[in-house]
Amino acid sequence: MVEVGLTVQKAKRLQALPPYLFVELDRARRKLQAAGHDVIDLGVGDPDLPTPRPVIERLAQAAQDPANHRYSFTEGLGVLRQAIAAWYLKRFRVSLDPATEILPLLGSKEGIAHLPWAVVNPGEAVLVPDPCYPPYRSGAILAEAEVISMPLRAEMDFLPDLGDINQRAAHRSKLMFLNYPNNPTAAVASDAFFQEAVELARSYEILIAHDAAYSELAFDGYRPASFLQVPGAKEVGIEFHSISKTFQMTGWRVGWACGNATAIAALNQLKTNLDSGIFQPVQYAAIAALEMDEQPLREVCAVYQQRRDAVVDGLAQAGWAIPKPSATFYLWAPVPGGVSSMDFARRVLEQAHVVITPGSGFGPSGEGFVRFSLTVPVERLREAVARIAKVL
Ligand SMILES: *Cc1c(COP(=O)(O)O)cnc(C)c1O
Repeated sequence: MVEVGLTVQKAKRLQALPPYLFVELDRARRKLQAAGHDVIDLGVGDPDLPTPRPVIERLAQAAQDPANHRYSFTEGLGVLRQAIAAWYLKRFRVSLDPATEILPLLGSKEGIAHLPWAVVNPGEAVLVPDPCYPPYRSGAILAEAEVISMPLRAEMDFLPDLGDINQRAAHRSKLMFLNYPNNPTAAVASDAFFQEAVELARSYEILIAHDAAYSELAFDGYRPASFLQVPGAKEVGIEFHSISKTFQMTGWRVGWACGNATAIAALNQLKTNLDSGIFQPVQYAAIAALEMDEQPLREVCAVYQQRRDAVVDGLAQAGWAIPKPSATFYLWAPVPGGVSSMDFARRVLEQAHVVITPGSGFGPSGEGFVRFSLTVPVERLREAVARIAKVL
């Protein structure tokens, strides 16, 4: 038989995705590690702390039951949706109908990236913060939507200037992503900002998708609000949530979307064509997480707060002033010395052997900043600070 070579072409929608900017930095990091250097990685936002014991035990127990070995349903177990509703009511005093207003996801990233397919037609626009968590942009591009960036600037406390969105753009837009507490800027939003977003959404018929992945990781007594707490929010919006960052469960893949029933139904219809739900033992484990008392979460926040203070106070002593965020496990630090964020990150990697993320990787308006992830133990962070201080 003669083998006929097939040239597999990459679809245009893949080619339209933004290029991955960190190829060179990744290569430099691997080279240092291969040469035996002790590299401290403050790049990825993946918690180092373990998943709580009761959650692991619930998984192990549920995995024994053959009833849990079969296909699950896309819409998730009723008991999971009820546990999510109970958690929302207790935490935010927002009441949700478990049958129509909650949809479990295989991690919130999955739902975020799929949402534009369910609610936006090709050529319609999606409003996306810049800088941002990358799936907002890539999900919109894959759905062949037009992406309209909303710059997040320090002068505006990293909130998009909603008054600055021009009318033509607003009329074309069907969906707006928001995310507070914010990745990568660590900024938080006020109720007044959410109210303003609801009003804009009403005027232009834009669905708001608020990503609340970091709502539980906050410091100094601050407790972030849910977008759905604002009057009228449920008529115009949904909220994404995740157990990943709250309960140190990034590998488990459970999140959910909740709020506007029509948007939830659209996303559910799309997903029934794509996946067959979350492994049921993982759903039971997620219930165990949501039903835990708050003490372990308080302790986790105290750990991140101590890490935040170690880095911010340590670098302040070295002459680098970084604002202290009141939520998330990130620091968003202005690049000293007027160099680009990529050049600065490269220098910190090469000279201090510390990985930090250039802000430009999250969108053009991220230029001028670097992101630190506080997901390594405090002693390692102190070591990183000491090394960076020598480079400054
Ligand atoms: C980590 C992160 C998520 C993703 O969470 P999963 O539920 O693990 O997919 C969503 N949004 C933001 C802003 C994040 O940083």
